[in-house]
Amino acid sequence: MNGMSMFRKLGIVKEFLSVKDFTCKEALKAYQKEKLAERLATHGSRFYPNSTKLEDFPIINKKIFMENFDTINTVGISKDEAFKVALASEESRNFSNKIGYISVGLSSGTSGSRGLFLVSEEESRRWAGYILKRMLPKPLLQRHKIAFFLRANSNLYESVNSLAIKFSFYDLLQPLEEHIETLNATQPTILIAPAQVLRLLALSDDLTINPKKVISVAEVLEEEDEELISQRFSQKVHQVYQCTEGFLAHTCEEGNLHLNEDRVYIEKEWIDEKSGRFSPIISDFFRSSQPVIRYKLDDILVLEKEPCACGSVFTRLKKIEGRCDDILNVKDKNGVPYLLFPDFVRRAIIRASDKVEEYAVEHREDALHVYLQPLSMKDEVEESLQKLYVEQGLESLEHVYDAYEMGKLTDKRRRVKQL
Ligand SMILES: [Zn+2]
Repeated sequence: MNGMSMFRKLGIVKEFLSVKDFTCKEALKAYQKEKLAERLATHGSRFYPNSTKLEDFPIINKKIFMENFDTINTVGISKDEAFKVALASEESRNFSNKIGYISVGLSSGTSGSRGLFLVSEEESRRWAGYILKRMLPKPLLQRHKIAFFLRANSNLYESVNSLAIKFSFYDLLQPLEEHIETLNATQPTILIAPAQVLRLLALSDDLTINPKKVISVAEVLEEEDEELISQRFSQKVHQVYQCTEGFLAHTCEEGNLHLNEDRVYIEKEWIDEKSGRFSPIISDFFRSSQPVIRYKLDDILVLEKEPCACGSVFTRLKKIEGRCDDILNVKDKNGVPYLLFPDFVRRAIIRASDKVEEYAVEHREDALHVYLQPLSMKDEVEESLQKLYVEQGLESLEHVYDAYEMGKLTDKRRRVKQL
């Protein structure tokens, strides 16, 4: 081991050991207050104000973040330069490109606008130590072989390759059949992939692996997929809610989602307080090459008020429901605009028949386009959707049915879309 890699590994271990569980609300509050104050006082970004009060900082979103990329980051990298490096990595499938000691990554935006992220070596070590502590099966420090399916690798992920951890990257651009062979040959103990890939692996007759832990990333994990995957691997499916802006939530040993409130401070912008639906506005305590402060994500999270049996006081989520873009703009019986949450549409289709294998729904102009596999289930689905409109007191929509076609694995799956 050379000096540099020793240093890297020690950095990960240090973070790994420093991650603590919080079982007391007051202790968490005090910790968050201290970390947030530190972050605001030392952000070093030309974009953000010099203030120690969070409310003095503007609430921004991805668009504003990307427009001000050059002044937000503190390492003097321009957006053009970062894009050039990131695109070259994607093209060559060689992800070791860096600008100085900064890794550049490109996020897979779902609506065309792709985000860029900058991560220093120190931040990358912290990230690796944290994610390992939160996600490794207990007891810790067993040997693990991790199989990680992603559309793009980055230095960030490679930094997990250390200690007793062997990490393999599976490129989603390659055919799944080839990956199944490699998986069978390497027998990973931890399988990490987007929900739609876990679903296909679970359905494969050729797959012979028996991982100790299965983790869904990058997409909404829907209940019917969770059921199928957990049956195939005989265990609960865990989730990591991670995006360019940070590692935001994880499932605990009880299998419940908790926000990572020792990494990020989260303000709630309510979409519907009664049902607990909100969009998170995040401030990250540790990101420094590209500070993330009061950044509003376009996601719908559903709050769970019941405390968790695991003892953690981190805010619980019932689920991550999707993106705000997925909420359908419809009308109630009196013609008043009404927001129909994607979950209601999903449930209506699933309950129609257990013979529905795949589906997608797009709401455009005034029609609901329903794609089904098999298409012969359309009468059952029609009946169930009409029932939904009655239950919710809605004006019924015109329906257009068509056969479902499988998208590319590298595309993020969104089953319900408002266009
Ligand atoms: Zn828990």
